[in-house]
Amino acid sequence: MRNGAMAVLASLTVLGVGLAVSGGRVNAGPAGPEDVLTQTSTINALLDGAYDGDMRIGDLLERGDVGIGTLRGLDGELVIVDGEAFQVGATGAVRRVGDDETTPFASVTPFDADARTDAPAGLDYPGLQAVLDAMRPSENLFYAVRATGSFRYVHTRSVPKQEKPYPPLAEVTRNQPEFEMHDVEGVVVGFWCPAFVEGVNVPGYHLHFLSEDRTCGGHLLGLTTEDVAVELDYTDDFLLDLPETEEFLGFDVRAGRHEDLEDVEG
Ligand SMILES: [Zn+2]
Repeated sequence: MRNGAMAVLASLTVLGVGLAVSGGRVNAGPAGPEDVLTQTSTINALLDGAYDGDMRIGDLLERGDVGIGTLRGLDGELVIVDGEAFQVGATGAVRRVGDDETTPFASVTPFDADARTDAPAGLDYPGLQAVLDAMRPSENLFYAVRATGSFRYVHTRSVPKQEKPYPPLAEVTRNQPEFEMHDVEGVVVGFWCPAFVEGVNVPGYHLHFLSEDRTCGGHLLGLTTEDVAVELDYTDDFLLDLPETEEFLGFDVRAGRHEDLEDVEG
């Protein structure tokens, strides 16, 4: 595991970066496809129960190899690692997701590390966020996160598949199944989004976990690190793909959903 992670880091060094930090400033390089965060639908639509979506997983995977989201009907947590999509279902079981399945809300990017460090052992989730915060050169970019290695503890949740009429997300997460893993190898992936995305995505960190053996994971609620390599991908392009479903086109956009958001993401 450790050797595998180091091999990945070595190859990333060769690939280069789209953004570079020098003299305390962030310099945007030529925009390439590697710097695009692609998202389907909006967090407010998901909060309001727009769980259908029309983005195929196969199409999503063409836009990146690291990502998070959910599946049609709010059917569990989606975790995209190494270009493969996995579902962590409401029972905690993990399965590969087929290309023809669809997602109502997901974000993905071709991961290309711009900064990396080793996290100290024994860090909790806020501690890991502080490490990531120190690696972010600006509050006004998007960042993809990948933290790979061994964890003393991981706490996650999933969400059960819903039937129509779909209830709002806050109602579903009130009874969310939660999972605890101890001494587990795996990877944390996801995004940090700037405050100005409010209503469109989740401001701050939104991370999912998948174990190395692909048997457990979910939406991250807590962790303790053991031996974890942390990578950050600075992302300065954002592509929003809106669903053309009846439910999205007819959905009543409402502002100020951040209180609901704290309920469902906390
Ligand atoms: Zn999530």
